[in-house]
Amino acid sequence: MTVQRSVAFCRPQVDDDDVAAVRAVLESGWLTTGAQTASLETEFAEAVGARHAVALSSCTAGLHVALLAAGVGPGDQVITTTYTFVATGHAIHWTGARPVLVDVDEETLNLSPEAVEAAITPRTKAIVPVHMTGLPCDMDAISSIAARHGLAVVEDAAQAIGSTYRGIRIGSLSDTTVFSLYATKNVTSGEGGVLTTQSDEVAAAVRRLAFFGVSKEVWERHSKPHGWQYDVLSNGFKYNIPDILSALARRQLAKMQALNAARAEAARRLLDGLAGIDRIALPREYDEVTRNWHLFPLRVLEGEQVRNALIDFLRERGIGTGVHYTPLHLFTFYQREFGYAPGDFPRAERAFASELSLPMHSGMTADDADWVAESVRDFFR
Ligand SMILES: *Cc1c(COP(=O)(O)O)cnc(C)c1O
Repeated sequence: MTVQRSVAFCRPQVDDDDVAAVRAVLESGWLTTGAQTASLETEFAEAVGARHAVALSSCTAGLHVALLAAGVGPGDQVITTTYTFVATGHAIHWTGARPVLVDVDEETLNLSPEAVEAAITPRTKAIVPVHMTGLPCDMDAISSIAARHGLAVVEDAAQAIGSTYRGIRIGSLSDTTVFSLYATKNVTSGEGGVLTTQSDEVAAAVRRLAFFGVSKEVWERHSKPHGWQYDVLSNGFKYNIPDILSALARRQLAKMQALNAARAEAARRLLDGLAGIDRIALPREYDEVTRNWHLFPLRVLEGEQVRNALIDFLRERGIGTGVHYTPLHLFTFYQREFGYAPGDFPRAERAFASELSLPMHSGMTADDADWVAESVRDFFR
């Protein structure tokens, strides 16, 4: 019997300082959006090189208000990849627009710029590229398509904090970028999101839309003379993040480099340990980008049955895995509501049938990575 060494698919790293920061907020008497959130926004903008950062309750909320701020509404079309978490497509639908799905590049799992261009119609308003697994999309191609057709770009960077594209940090490239602080993400506060933008107008619109259409934030109301005065300029949502979570997010953000470096180290160890198995394709590095190793996506070349057997084999050894993602066009809702059907996006379907995400998190040790690699080797022996 092989020695079992259980390796979680994902596990957030929360240390004593993180706990102390949350505790301080709990004891401060101010639990909701306040000074911690304001500091998080300043620090986040600095960390990704953006002019503005707006902290929100989730990345999904951020995608919603970013699209609204870009003028997207009923009757419009927004192009995104079928190969993403359902949040991306749903947020587009929340605005009343139609999510126009496109196929991916089979190697990178990112949306194909050619497919984006081919999907443009007179009703297209925006493109939502998703940096799948933390690997940046071909942003030069996407930006140039957007510029030529007068479209907004809202990046879904839920998985891409700390990744760079041609030396530029994700978060400072396009009109608007949205990050996630969800429990599985590289930098996490359990739940939360941060929108970054270079535009004063977008930042102001997003702040208003994210809090009931109110013209000033609660915090400003309480910290300025005559602060009780405010106006409601439009309808809006309740998408603010509480200081309890912002305090945790600040601590995690301060450790971003170290958290991502630990993932990169684990990824190198996995790549070394898995090298030379000819029945799988490994993720790789590219010259023009750095990936933050949010996920470690393997491809099992023989396809779905062997991939599923590998999942079961690893589970029996205590190794957690994931499959990222079921393409949106294969879901009942997307077929019923928008008329998509199996077969629409063959590259995404092949990727989905062969993909397997191995354990990847900042607490992974060299022994963990070696055990995972050895186990994959054992399966293919
Ligand atoms: C996690 C994730 C989201 C959703 O983020 P939340 O903060 O949970 O709303 C959206 N898009 C992608 C690609 C994700 O991985």
